[in-house]
Amino acid sequence: MIKSISLLALLSNLMIATMAFAGPWISSGGDLVGDTRNPWFVVNSPVVTYCIKADAKSFSASSSAVKVALEKSLAFWRGEFQENENYTKESLNHLPLSIPKFVEIACDSQVDLKLILGEGALSKEEALYVQSRRTEVVALTVRTDYDSVTLKGRGFLYIAGDLNKPAWLEKVWTNDSRLTTVIAHELGHILGIPHQSGDYATMTGIPENPAALNLMAESTPQAAVLKNKIGYGFVQGIAPILSNLKSQESCEISAATRQWLNIAEATHCLRVVLSPINTDGEIFASLYAVEENGNSRLLGHFVADMLSRTLLNYKFDVITQLVLNKDQKVFTFPAANQVDFMTGGVQLFANMNLKLSRVDQPVPDRSVILTVSPLQMVILGGSEYGFTTLFSSHRIRPSF
Ligand SMILES: [Zn+2]
Repeated sequence: MIKSISLLALLSNLMIATMAFAGPWISSGGDLVGDTRNPWFVVNSPVVTYCIKADAKSFSASSSAVKVALEKSLAFWRGEFQENENYTKESLNHLPLSIPKFVEIACDSQVDLKLILGEGALSKEEALYVQSRRTEVVALTVRTDYDSVTLKGRGFLYIAGDLNKPAWLEKVWTNDSRLTTVIAHELGHILGIPHQSGDYATMTGIPENPAALNLMAESTPQAAVLKNKIGYGFVQGIAPILSNLKSQESCEISAATRQWLNIAEATHCLRVVLSPINTDGEIFASLYAVEENGNSRLLGHFVADMLSRTLLNYKFDVITQLVLNKDQKVFTFPAANQVDFMTGGVQLFANMNLKLSRVDQPVPDRSVILTVSPLQMVILGGSEYGFTTLFSSHRIRPSF
Protein backbone atom coordinates (compact mmCIF):
# COMPACT_ATOMS: atom_id res chain seq x y z
CA MET A 1 0.00 0.00 0.00
CA ILE A 2 2.72 2.41 1.05
CA LYS A 3 4.64 1.49 -2.06
CA SER A 4 1.74 2.26 -4.42
CA ILE A 5 1.11 5.62 -2.76
CA SER A 6 4.72 6.70 -3.12
CA LEU A 7 4.76 5.46 -6.71
CA LEU A 8 1.64 7.51 -7.43
CA ALA A 9 3.24 10.56 -5.79
CA LEU A 10 6.36 10.01 -7.85
CA LEU A 11 4.37 9.71 -11.07
CA SER A 12 2.35 12.85 -10.39
CA ASN A 13 5.53 14.71 -9.48
CA LEU A 14 7.08 13.61 -12.74
CA MET A 15 4.02 14.75 -14.67
CA ILE A 16 4.03 18.15 -12.98
CA ALA A 17 7.73 18.48 -13.63
CA THR A 18 7.34 17.62 -17.30
CA MET A 19 4.34 19.84 -17.86
CA ALA A 20 5.42 22.92 -15.94
CA PHE A 21 9.00 23.23 -17.19
CA ALA A 22 8.97 26.17 -19.53
CA GLY A 23 10.10 29.70 -20.11
CA PRO A 24 12.77 31.64 -21.93
CA TRP A 25 16.48 31.02 -21.55
CA ILE A 26 17.92 33.18 -18.78
CA SER A 27 21.65 33.73 -18.47
CA SER A 28 23.98 34.51 -15.58
CA GLY A 29 21.93 36.14 -12.89
CA GLY A 30 19.38 37.88 -15.06
CA ASP A 31 17.32 40.97 -14.29
CA LEU A 32 15.02 41.06 -11.32
CA VAL A 33 11.90 40.32 -13.34
CA GLY A 34 9.48 37.67 -12.14
CA ASP A 35 11.29 34.49 -11.21
CA THR A 36 14.30 35.05 -13.47
CA ARG A 37 16.66 35.49 -10.55
CA ASN A 38 15.35 32.60 -8.49
CA PRO A 39 17.89 30.00 -7.42
CA TRP A 40 17.66 26.96 -9.66
CA PHE A 41 17.22 24.72 -6.64
CA VAL A 42 15.64 25.20 -3.22
CA VAL A 43 14.97 22.98 -0.21
CA ASN A 44 12.93 20.38 -2.11
CA SER A 45 15.95 19.55 -4.29
CA PRO A 46 18.47 17.94 -1.93
CA VAL A 47 20.10 16.12 -4.84
CA VAL A 48 20.92 17.68 -8.19
CA THR A 49 22.21 15.75 -11.16
CA TYR A 50 24.95 17.08 -13.37
CA CYS A 51 26.87 15.79 -16.34
CA ILE A 52 30.04 16.81 -18.14
CA LYS A 53 30.25 17.28 -21.87
CA ALA A 54 33.84 18.10 -22.77
CA ASP A 55 35.53 18.93 -26.05
CA ALA A 56 39.13 17.80 -25.56
CA LYS A 57 40.15 19.56 -28.82
CA SER A 58 39.34 22.99 -27.39
CA PHE A 59 39.43 22.54 -23.60
CA SER A 60 42.68 21.84 -21.73
CA ALA A 61 41.46 20.71 -18.28
CA SER A 62 40.42 17.12 -17.68
CA SER A 63 36.93 16.22 -16.49
CA SER A 64 38.38 15.12 -13.16
CA ALA A 65 40.01 18.54 -12.68
CA VAL A 66 36.62 20.12 -13.40
CA LYS A 67 34.95 17.84 -10.82
CA VAL A 68 37.50 18.86 -8.18
CA ALA A 69 36.88 22.53 -9.02
CA LEU A 70 33.12 21.98 -8.74
CA GLU A 71 33.51 20.35 -5.29
CA LYS A 72 35.72 23.22 -4.08
CA SER A 73 33.14 25.72 -5.35
CA LEU A 74 30.33 23.87 -3.60
CA ALA A 75 32.34 23.87 -0.36
CA PHE A 76 32.85 27.63 -0.68
CA TRP A 77 29.13 28.29 -1.09
CA ARG A 78 28.21 25.87 1.70
CA GLY A 79 30.39 27.95 4.04
CA GLU A 80 28.82 31.21 2.85
CA PHE A 81 25.27 29.90 3.15
CA GLN A 82 25.91 28.35 6.54
CA GLU A 83 27.07 31.66 7.99
CA ASN A 84 24.11 33.43 6.46
CA GLU A 85 21.75 30.79 7.82
CA ASN A 86 23.14 31.21 11.33
CA TYR A 87 22.71 34.93 11.09
CA THR A 88 19.32 35.37 9.43
CA LYS A 89 17.23 32.41 10.52
CA GLU A 90 15.26 34.50 13.00
CA SER A 91 14.22 37.08 10.43
CA LEU A 92 10.85 37.15 8.69
CA ASN A 93 10.20 35.60 5.31
CA HIS A 94 13.48 33.84 5.49
CA LEU A 95 14.33 31.45 2.71
CA PRO A 96 16.14 28.44 4.12
CA LEU A 97 19.16 28.33 1.89
CA SER A 98 20.69 24.99 1.24
CA ILE A 99 23.14 23.60 -1.23
CA PRO A 100 22.13 20.36 -2.83
CA LYS A 101 24.39 17.39 -3.26
CA PHE A 102 25.61 17.25 -6.85
CA VAL A 103 25.63 13.78 -8.36
CA GLU A 104 27.14 13.04 -11.76
CA ILE A 105 25.09 11.13 -14.32
CA ALA A 106 25.29 10.67 -18.08
CA CYS A 107 24.19 13.65 -20.18
CA ASP A 108 20.54 13.22 -21.14
CA SER A 109 17.49 15.45 -21.40
CA GLN A 110 16.61 14.95 -17.72
CA VAL A 111 19.92 16.12 -16.25
CA ASP A 112 19.58 19.24 -14.06
CA LEU A 113 22.91 20.86 -14.90
CA LYS A 114 25.07 20.26 -17.93
CA LEU A 115 28.70 21.38 -17.68
CA ILE A 116 29.77 22.19 -21.23
CA LEU A 117 33.51 22.54 -21.66
CA GLY A 118 34.77 24.04 -24.91
CA GLU A 119 32.80 25.24 -27.93
CA GLY A 120 32.89 21.86 -29.64
CA ALA A 121 30.70 20.43 -26.87
CA LEU A 122 27.85 22.91 -27.46
CA SER A 123 24.72 21.82 -29.32
CA LYS A 124 23.68 23.97 -32.30
CA GLU A 125 21.02 25.74 -30.20
CA GLU A 126 23.41 26.33 -27.29
CA ALA A 127 26.14 27.61 -29.62
CA LEU A 128 23.73 30.13 -31.19
CA TYR A 129 22.78 31.39 -27.74
CA VAL A 130 26.42 31.77 -26.65
CA GLN A 131 27.29 33.56 -29.90
CA SER A 132 24.39 35.99 -29.39
CA ARG A 133 26.12 37.45 -26.33
CA ARG A 134 27.57 40.88 -26.95
CA THR A 135 30.94 40.26 -25.31
CA GLU A 136 33.35 37.41 -25.71
CA VAL A 137 32.17 34.72 -23.31
CA VAL A 138 34.66 33.19 -20.89
CA ALA A 139 31.96 31.40 -18.92
CA LEU A 140 28.18 31.54 -18.86
CA THR A 141 25.30 30.02 -16.94
CA VAL A 142 22.03 29.56 -18.82
CA ARG A 143 18.79 28.47 -17.19
CA THR A 144 16.92 26.82 -20.03
CA ASP A 145 13.86 25.63 -18.07
CA TYR A 146 12.12 26.66 -14.89
CA ASP A 147 9.27 24.94 -13.12
CA SER A 148 7.33 27.52 -11.13
CA VAL A 149 5.43 24.77 -9.27
CA THR A 150 8.41 22.82 -7.96
CA LEU A 151 10.74 25.88 -8.09
CA LYS A 152 13.34 23.86 -9.91
CA GLY A 153 15.54 25.05 -12.75
CA ARG A 154 17.53 23.24 -15.37
CA GLY A 155 20.25 24.44 -17.66
CA PHE A 156 23.90 24.53 -18.55
CA LEU A 157 27.18 26.04 -17.41
CA TYR A 158 29.44 26.75 -20.35
CA ILE A 159 33.17 27.41 -20.13
CA ALA A 160 34.92 28.60 -23.28
CA GLY A 161 37.73 26.52 -24.76
CA ASP A 162 41.33 27.58 -24.18
CA LEU A 163 43.27 25.64 -26.82
CA ASN A 164 44.52 27.29 -30.03
CA LYS A 165 43.29 30.61 -28.71
CA PRO A 166 44.67 34.16 -28.49
CA ALA A 167 47.49 34.46 -25.95
CA TRP A 168 45.28 35.83 -23.16
CA LEU A 169 43.09 32.72 -23.24
CA GLU A 170 45.62 30.05 -24.23
CA LYS A 171 45.67 27.13 -21.75
CA VAL A 172 44.21 29.21 -18.91
CA TRP A 173 42.25 26.21 -17.57
CA THR A 174 45.45 24.33 -16.75
CA ASN A 175 45.47 26.64 -13.69
CA ASP A 176 43.16 25.04 -11.11
CA SER A 177 42.54 28.22 -9.10
CA ARG A 178 41.35 30.06 -12.22
CA LEU A 179 39.08 27.20 -13.15
CA THR A 180 37.66 27.01 -9.62
CA THR A 181 37.15 30.78 -9.40
CA VAL A 182 35.18 30.79 -12.64
CA ILE A 183 33.08 27.75 -11.70
CA ALA A 184 32.41 29.24 -8.23
CA HIS A 185 31.22 32.48 -9.88
CA GLU A 186 28.86 30.67 -12.23
CA LEU A 187 27.66 28.34 -9.49
CA GLY A 188 26.79 31.49 -7.50
CA HIS A 189 24.33 32.42 -10.28
CA ILE A 190 22.80 28.94 -10.18
CA LEU A 191 22.32 29.38 -6.43
CA GLY A 192 20.54 32.71 -6.99
CA ILE A 193 23.36 35.22 -6.43
CA PRO A 194 23.36 38.08 -8.98
CA HIS A 195 26.32 40.28 -9.92
CA GLN A 196 27.63 42.69 -7.33
CA SER A 197 29.03 46.04 -8.30
CA GLY A 198 32.05 47.76 -6.86
CA ASP A 199 35.03 46.51 -4.98
CA TYR A 200 34.94 45.99 -1.26
CA ALA A 201 37.03 49.02 -0.35
CA THR A 202 34.39 51.23 -2.01
CA MET A 203 31.45 49.31 -0.61
CA THR A 204 32.65 49.36 2.97
CA GLY A 205 34.31 52.76 3.05
CA ILE A 206 37.21 51.17 4.87
CA PRO A 207 40.31 52.07 2.84
CA GLU A 208 42.66 49.65 4.59
CA ASN A 209 40.69 46.66 3.37
CA PRO A 210 43.09 44.28 1.74
CA ALA A 211 42.40 43.74 -1.93
CA ALA A 212 40.26 40.66 -1.99
CA LEU A 213 38.51 39.37 -5.06
CA ASN A 214 34.80 40.08 -5.17
CA LEU A 215 33.80 36.71 -6.57
CA MET A 216 30.45 37.90 -7.90
CA ALA A 217 31.69 41.03 -9.69
CA GLU A 218 30.55 40.90 -13.32
CA SER A 219 34.14 41.14 -14.52
CA THR A 220 35.45 38.24 -12.42
CA PRO A 221 35.40 35.45 -15.05
CA GLN A 222 37.28 37.71 -17.49
CA ALA A 223 39.67 38.93 -14.78
CA ALA A 224 40.36 35.34 -13.76
CA VAL A 225 41.81 34.48 -17.15
CA LEU A 226 43.88 37.62 -17.59
CA LYS A 227 47.27 36.34 -16.64
CA ASN A 228 48.61 39.71 -15.48
CA LYS A 229 45.82 39.87 -12.91
CA ILE A 230 46.79 36.63 -11.23
CA GLY A 231 48.21 38.46 -8.19
CA TYR A 232 44.93 40.21 -7.51
CA GLY A 233 42.45 38.27 -5.47
CA PHE A 234 43.66 34.84 -6.40
CA VAL A 235 46.61 35.15 -4.08
CA GLN A 236 45.01 37.34 -1.44
CA GLY A 237 41.74 35.52 -1.14
CA ILE A 238 38.05 35.69 -1.78
CA ALA A 239 35.92 38.20 0.06
CA PRO A 240 32.78 36.98 1.82
CA ILE A 241 29.61 37.50 -0.21
CA LEU A 242 26.76 37.09 2.26
CA SER A 243 26.31 38.31 5.79
CA ASN A 244 28.98 38.77 8.35
CA LEU A 245 29.87 36.07 10.70
CA LYS A 246 27.63 36.48 13.69
CA SER A 247 30.70 36.33 15.85
CA GLN A 248 34.07 37.89 15.07
CA GLU A 249 37.25 37.77 17.05
CA SER A 250 40.45 39.77 17.14
CA CYS A 251 43.51 38.73 19.10
CA GLU A 252 45.55 41.84 18.39
CA ILE A 253 44.90 43.98 21.44
CA SER A 254 46.97 47.14 21.65
CA ALA A 255 48.06 48.81 24.89
CA ALA A 256 45.68 51.68 24.06
CA THR A 257 42.79 49.25 23.68
CA ARG A 258 43.63 47.60 27.02
CA GLN A 259 43.67 50.99 28.67
CA TRP A 260 40.44 52.15 27.03
CA LEU A 261 38.59 48.96 27.95
CA ASN A 262 40.38 48.56 31.27
CA ILE A 263 41.19 44.91 30.62
CA ALA A 264 44.11 42.91 32.00
CA GLU A 265 46.83 40.93 30.22
CA ALA A 266 44.91 37.72 30.88
CA THR A 267 42.48 38.79 28.14
CA HIS A 268 43.90 37.19 25.05
CA CYS A 269 41.30 38.09 22.43
CA LEU A 270 38.17 40.16 22.07
CA ARG A 271 34.99 38.73 20.57
CA VAL A 272 32.03 40.66 19.20
CA VAL A 273 28.71 38.85 18.79
CA LEU A 274 26.02 40.56 16.70
CA SER A 275 22.41 40.36 17.83
CA PRO A 276 19.98 38.76 15.33
CA ILE A 277 19.04 41.14 12.54
CA ASN A 278 15.38 41.48 13.49
CA THR A 279 16.15 42.51 17.04
CA ASP A 280 13.97 45.47 18.01
CA GLY A 281 15.83 45.97 21.23
CA GLU A 282 18.64 48.36 21.94
CA ILE A 283 21.43 45.80 21.96
CA PHE A 284 23.16 45.55 18.59
CA ALA A 285 26.10 43.49 19.69
CA SER A 286 27.91 42.20 22.74
CA LEU A 287 31.59 42.31 23.63
CA TYR A 288 33.38 39.41 25.29
CA ALA A 289 36.88 38.97 26.70
CA VAL A 290 38.46 35.64 25.79
CA GLU A 291 41.06 34.39 28.26
CA GLU A 292 44.10 32.31 27.38
CA ASN A 293 42.34 29.11 28.54
CA GLY A 294 39.53 29.78 26.06
CA ASN A 295 36.96 30.89 28.64
CA SER A 296 35.01 33.98 27.68
CA ARG A 297 33.37 36.57 29.87
CA LEU A 298 30.84 39.26 28.96
CA LEU A 299 32.31 42.74 29.13
CA GLY A 300 29.27 44.66 27.99
CA HIS A 301 26.69 45.46 25.34
CA PHE A 302 26.70 47.94 22.48
CA VAL A 303 23.48 49.89 22.93
CA ALA A 304 21.83 52.87 21.26
CA ASP A 305 20.05 55.63 23.13
CA MET A 306 16.94 57.26 21.63
CA LEU A 307 18.84 60.06 19.93
CA SER A 308 21.47 57.88 18.30
CA ARG A 309 18.76 55.39 17.31
CA THR A 310 17.29 57.99 14.98
CA LEU A 311 20.73 58.57 13.48
CA LEU A 312 21.53 54.91 12.93
CA ASN A 313 22.96 54.06 9.60
CA TYR A 314 21.94 50.46 9.46
CA LYS A 315 21.25 48.79 6.14
CA PHE A 316 20.72 45.34 4.74
CA ASP A 317 21.27 44.45 1.14
CA VAL A 318 19.14 41.53 0.14
CA ILE A 319 21.02 39.39 -2.33
CA THR A 320 19.03 36.23 -2.87
CA GLN A 321 15.31 36.54 -3.47
CA LEU A 322 12.86 33.85 -4.34
CA VAL A 323 9.78 34.96 -6.24
CA LEU A 324 6.94 32.58 -5.48
CA ASN A 325 4.35 31.75 -8.08
CA LYS A 326 0.92 31.24 -6.51
CA ASP A 327 0.88 27.71 -7.93
CA GLN A 328 4.12 26.77 -6.20
CA LYS A 329 3.95 23.59 -4.15
CA VAL A 330 7.20 23.82 -2.20
CA PHE A 331 6.45 26.18 0.68
CA THR A 332 3.30 25.57 2.69
CA PHE A 333 3.73 27.79 5.74
CA PRO A 334 1.41 30.82 6.04
CA ALA A 335 4.11 33.30 5.06
CA ALA A 336 4.19 31.80 1.57
CA ASN A 337 0.68 33.15 0.94
CA GLN A 338 1.43 36.60 2.26
CA VAL A 339 4.56 37.56 0.41
CA ASP A 340 5.48 37.36 -3.22
CA PHE A 341 9.08 36.73 -2.48
CA MET A 342 11.28 35.50 0.28
CA THR A 343 14.81 36.55 1.01
CA GLY A 344 17.85 34.42 1.51
CA GLY A 345 21.33 35.85 1.48
CA VAL A 346 21.75 39.29 2.99
CA GLN A 347 24.64 41.64 3.55
CA LEU A 348 24.74 43.90 6.56
CA PHE A 349 26.28 47.33 6.31
CA ALA A 350 26.19 49.41 9.46
CA ASN A 351 27.97 52.45 10.78
CA MET A 352 26.54 53.05 14.21
CA ASN A 353 27.15 55.50 16.99
CA LEU A 354 26.57 53.46 20.11
CA LYS A 355 27.50 53.28 23.74
CA LEU A 356 29.41 50.44 25.32
CA SER A 357 27.50 49.60 28.46
CA ARG A 358 29.71 47.57 30.79
CA VAL A 359 28.33 44.74 32.82
CA ASP A 360 31.62 43.54 34.31
CA GLN A 361 32.68 46.69 36.13
CA PRO A 362 31.08 49.92 37.36
CA VAL A 363 32.33 52.37 34.72
CA PRO A 364 30.26 54.97 32.82
CA ASP A 365 28.93 54.04 29.39
CA ARG A 366 31.35 55.21 26.71
CA SER A 367 30.76 56.21 23.10
CA VAL A 368 31.87 53.89 20.34
CA ILE A 369 31.41 53.62 16.61
CA LEU A 370 30.69 50.11 15.39
CA THR A 371 31.22 49.52 11.67
CA VAL A 372 30.03 46.27 10.15
CA SER A 373 30.44 45.20 6.54
CA PRO A 374 30.56 41.78 4.90
CA LEU A 375 34.33 41.96 4.99
CA GLN A 376 35.22 43.65 8.22
CA MET A 377 34.07 44.67 11.67
CA VAL A 378 35.70 47.70 13.32
CA ILE A 379 35.09 49.32 16.69
CA LEU A 380 36.34 52.82 17.40
CA GLY A 381 36.32 54.05 20.97
CA GLY A 382 35.78 57.73 21.76
CA SER A 383 37.98 59.73 24.09
CA GLU A 384 38.88 63.39 24.64
CA TYR A 385 41.57 62.96 21.94
CA GLY A 386 39.22 61.63 19.29
CA PHE A 387 38.62 58.01 18.33
CA THR A 388 40.95 55.09 18.73
CA THR A 389 40.65 51.65 17.06
CA LEU A 390 39.66 49.10 19.69
CA PHE A 391 38.83 46.15 17.50
CA SER A 392 39.37 45.26 13.86
CA SER A 393 38.72 41.92 12.22
CA HIS A 394 39.25 41.10 8.56
CA ARG A 395 37.53 38.25 6.89
CA ILE A 396 39.28 36.95 3.84
CA ARG A 397 38.76 33.43 2.68
CA PRO A 398 41.69 31.46 1.38
CA SER A 399 42.08 31.73 -2.36
CA PHE A 400 41.06 28.75 -4.45
ZN1 LIG B 1 28.42 36.39 -13.80
